Amino acid sequence: MQTSFTLEQLADPDIVESEKILRACVHCGFCTATCPTYVLDGNELDSPRGRIYLIKDMLENDRPASAEVALHIDRCLSCLACMTTCPSGVHYMHLVDHARVHIENTFTRPVSERFLRSVLARTLPYPQRFRLALAAALLGKPLTGVAEAFGLKRLAAMLRLAPWRGPHRPLAPQTFPAATAVRAGRVALLAGCVNDVLAPQINTAAVRTLRRCGIEVVVAENAGCCGSMVHHMGREHEALAQARANIDAWTALGEIDAIVITASGCGTTVKDYGFMLRTDPAYAERAAKVSKLARDVTEYLAGLPLESAPGAAGLVVAYHAACSLQHGQRIIRQPKDLLAKLGFVVKDVPDGHLCCGSAGTYNIMQPDIARRLRERKVGTIERLRPDVIAAGNIGCMTQIAAGTSVPTVHTVELIDWASGGPCPPALQERRGQAAELPSAAAG
Ligand code: SF4
Ligand code: SF4
Repeated sequence: MQTSFTLEQLADPDIVESEKILRACVHCGFCTATCPTYVLDGNELDSPRGRIYLIKDMLENDRPASAEVALHIDRCLSCLACMTTCPSGVHYMHLVDHARVHIENTFTRPVSERFLRSVLARTLPYPQRFRLALAAALLGKPLTGVAEAFGLKRLAAMLRLAPWRGPHRPLAPQTFPAATAVRAGRVALLAGCVNDVLAPQINTAAVRTLRRCGIEVVVAENAGCCGSMVHHMGREHEALAQARANIDAWTALGEIDAIVITASGCGTTVKDYGFMLRTDPAYAERAAKVSKLARDVTEYLAGLPLESAPGAAGLVVAYHAACSLQHGQRIIRQPKDLLAKLGFVVKDVPDGHLCCGSAGTYNIMQPDIARRLRERKVGTIERLRPDVIAAGNIGCMTQIAAGTSVPTVHTVELIDWASGGPCPPALQERRGQAAELPSAAAG
């Protein structure tokens, strides 16, 4: 694609990067076939190619974002399916991230939207605030139908996504020693924000499994949200501040073999810290090092000698590939191979490249599209008649669980269970209700 940025514009390193990305696009349109929003509505402006044209026009002409541009970029899930499909290697993620910052800085949204975005940005990344918000949502949850009847779609979406149980305390900074006589490695674990408050069993399963493999696990003091929540809203300064805090926290640990992450959405962002902070002389080098050390938990476990516990397995697992894992990090085989190795019957979900509609705060901000994507996803999953659904991202787990009665767990919960840990709570509940579920590993 030809571009016509001025020399003055090209003094901005973000424009340089976006120009490179735009020039790589050959308008072929292959990406449209795998874009969830285009698949739903067939509108070119809700396809990657259409969005690329909108962004090009906005940046080249140095225009404030229009309502039209904001609408179509807001509808983008940042699922990155288009990057997997693109034969020209267009780095859509960096382009849309740049566009979101431009929109945030130049477009004035309606008051209600500004208010909601601000509340989400000031709540979700902070576990204590998020706990209070969840407690309030639990009280309001019985009113989901009322909110829907009054057309308060975003409020209804938030209430529907809130779990029926109270929030949990996040994992405190501490060191978990290896459970073997000889230590085989030392890693930092990103406890995260939403992940731990909603489903602390995920990180505890990861810690147990890592320790069993001889790995010491450190939850660093002052490490927190990875920054992806606000990053996807275009709130660049907040996202970079959160990234810098994590880099400082992990650097202070000294030598570590990896930074293990159990939420794949966070993993994609941490792996991008090197790019996000490339122009910050104080952080560029350390950010690049942190990105190199970042590993999804299944990516890291795939290199460890995991043994299946006696009596493990037999359960049919529908493996939902989170977009951030399959498209963002290109981790495709490891989670499925680990599950299969430990004796589970793993089934791929048809049309697995299509997003479930979670996408960070997308299922709150764009409830209609998110609901349609969830219904589609749950339909394809339920046709597999699985005993359990496994996913590598808390956002997908919450989104899918809100639309099905099939237990939904994190992949590492199953790995932990089948290698000697306890049965995942969601499966335990189901086993209590339905005796027909196979009794798999040690529970
Ligand atoms: S597939 Fe790649 S090159 Fe083709 S239109 Fe989409 S982004 Fe451009
Ligand atoms: S990131 Fe996903 S929703 Fe956005 S343009 Fe690409 S495929 Fe479509």
